[in-house]
Amino acid sequence: MEKVTEIFGTMVFDDRQMKARLSEKVYKSLKRTIDRGTKLDSSVADAVAAAMKDWALEKGATHYTHWFQPETGLTAEKHDSFITPAPDGRVIMEFSGKELVKGEPDASSFPSGGLRATFEARGYTAWDPTSYAFIKDGTLYIPTAFCSYTGEALDKKVPLLRSMEALSRQAMRILKLFGKDNVRSVRTSVGPEQEYFLVDRDMWKERKDLIMTGRTLFGAMPPKGQEMDDHYFGSIKPRVAEYMADLDRELWKLGIYAKTKHNEVAPAQHELAPIYDTTNIAADHNQLTMEIMQKVAQRHNLVCLLHEKPFAGVNGSGKHNNWSISTDQGENLLSPGETPQENAQFLLFLAAVIKAVDDYQDLLRLSVATAGNDHRLGANEAPPAVISIFLGDELTAILEAIEKDVPYGGTKKEKMQLGVDVLPKFSKDTTDRNRTSPFAFTGNKFEFRMLGSSNSISCANIHLNAAVAEVLKQFADELEPASDFHTALHALIQKTIRDHKRIIFNGNGYDDAWIAEAEKRGLMNLKTTADAMPHLCDEKNVKMLTAHGIFSEPELYSRRDIMLENYIKSVAIEANTMADMAQKEILPAVISFTADTASSAAAKQSLVPGAACAREKRVVTELSTLTDEMDAAVTTLTEDIAKLHTLTEIPEASAYVRDTLIPAMEALRSVADKAETLTSEDYWPFPTYDKLLFGV
Ligand code: ADP
Ligand code: MG
Repeated sequence: MEKVTEIFGTMVFDDRQMKARLSEKVYKSLKRTIDRGTKLDSSVADAVAAAMKDWALEKGATHYTHWFQPETGLTAEKHDSFITPAPDGRVIMEFSGKELVKGEPDASSFPSGGLRATFEARGYTAWDPTSYAFIKDGTLYIPTAFCSYTGEALDKKVPLLRSMEALSRQAMRILKLFGKDNVRSVRTSVGPEQEYFLVDRDMWKERKDLIMTGRTLFGAMPPKGQEMDDHYFGSIKPRVAEYMADLDRELWKLGIYAKTKHNEVAPAQHELAPIYDTTNIAADHNQLTMEIMQKVAQRHNLVCLLHEKPFAGVNGSGKHNNWSISTDQGENLLSPGETPQENAQFLLFLAAVIKAVDDYQDLLRLSVATAGNDHRLGANEAPPAVISIFLGDELTAILEAIEKDVPYGGTKKEKMQLGVDVLPKFSKDTTDRNRTSPFAFTGNKFEFRMLGSSNSISCANIHLNAAVAEVLKQFADELEPASDFHTALHALIQKTIRDHKRIIFNGNGYDDAWIAEAEKRGLMNLKTTADAMPHLCDEKNVKMLTAHGIFSEPELYSRRDIMLENYIKSVAIEANTMADMAQKEILPAVISFTADTASSAAAKQSLVPGAACAREKRVVTELSTLTDEMDAAVTTLTEDIAKLHTLTEIPEASAYVRDTLIPAMEALRSVADKAETLTSEDYWPFPTYDKLLFGV
């Protein structure tokens, strides 16, 4: 096997390639575009395109594609070959700067939430030079943003880049107040920890629910689940280890810093974490990672399930969005630092995040809302649907001392004077113990843990960046005119802690008592997508997001509708699949088993008159009842699905899904799962939980 250092980034047109293949002038000009967002002139674009093409041809590529992230949350691509006819009938391989910079896929089939009538379906993709191009399956992939001709964002990358710019703008205003005039940009970085399940492909093929919806819609709990905690960080089985090794190599070739891998809490559940990177690159890489995970699984006759809740009764899968803010000089603004100045600056940024999360709880909650993730958030699983921040006891105590102007702790008897005193040391280790918090400070970054495993990380980061940008703006507006900066700063931080400490919670987020307490504190508890999503268009959110140029008002309305439609459609597909499986697979199996049991009991009694046949009688009696109940449940579900199709208003339909369709699905499942426990395995029409969870 080649060494990691030799394969890493071999399929990426990265800085090494740019340096080696571009003239110094072109390289410098491109670097300026990448680092500072300056405009790229067309001669530079031509030179870059030519170098990229030569490199791609050397690697055996024949096609190129503008790769983008439409609002479906997936990725999309349209492949063009490099060939251009030459006058003598041969072809030459060409790729111009124009083709690199701009593409025109037909946008009509991507969801736009009414933004764009189909007759004016044209949208265009624009190269994002900050995210390196790469080769996959013989095609040169060019990461791009996707807009309509009227300039509306039709993807997740445009608003993400806008939110990063907004945060950079406002953070720089704050840094100026601390005398940091040399900072040219501020960026957010993200390291997304990705959870997933692996199941055997042959078993997967036998389950319509997994094929159609990515999760099991039926299935009784196996004799053993995750109660022994023996899987978490346990030794990795050989077949899984081979998969992981193969996956790492594929990711490394694409320049993705896959770093950590381990088993997760549930059986068959695993995690992969990359080293963090600039947010838009992390977003591109996470989309690629999810795709490669599924592709590599095929080679091992496995299926990688990215659904948030593939199995009821065992942990679901999330994605932890580790997020930090840093300057182009490499200073992490969420790191406490060593000096009083650094401490004061840290506390200001910390206060900004606290206020942002409190003010925009709804935006954060809805940024991760999908039908799949509703099974984690708001169900009996961590994190809960209520947003709160974990700071750890020590940091919380420090903030409390600042708020109340009282001495901190037992050792230092002085009050904290910001900008003068050094922050008392708090140990980083104690900050990461709480695994149930949706939003935890982990020493020099925040970990937003509510994302679902299949979510694009873009939405969460758009809203997080935007909310923090807004609060930094408010802070800068207040501090810039102050005559005495440190006094104003102290007062501002005190006030912020006082007004927003309700969002800080260091206890157990699983606990029902917390949900009651959160309600007392006035925190929002948006249990489902149907509850959360409409808040996107609340006046305060529209005002904030448009003020920073992250979304236009029409973009927001369209996005809300697209997300709600996704919710409605995903649940409807699940409901249809359930009805189908119940009618064509489960009911016939249960009916045959009941009939066979009844006839064998009759046969037995004819041979042994008076035989009790207790077991047979019980099975037949109970299964007969369950069959009738299942029949009724499936009839109800089918009627409910039909009713859904008559609802044309999105809000009404999504509420109906939440209040009627999902409960009807749960009712059907509950009867079917009971029947499963009484039915012979030989009759059961598809692999059960024990086989799926322990079969790899
Ligand atoms: P663990 O949570 O297992 O202790 P870490 O907290 O070190 O591990 O890292 C978890 C994820 O957070 C990784 O993807 C890592 O790259 C990322 N991460 C670490 N530091 C930062 C940072 N400053 N900003 C953003 N992400 C970070
Ligand atoms: Mg972590």
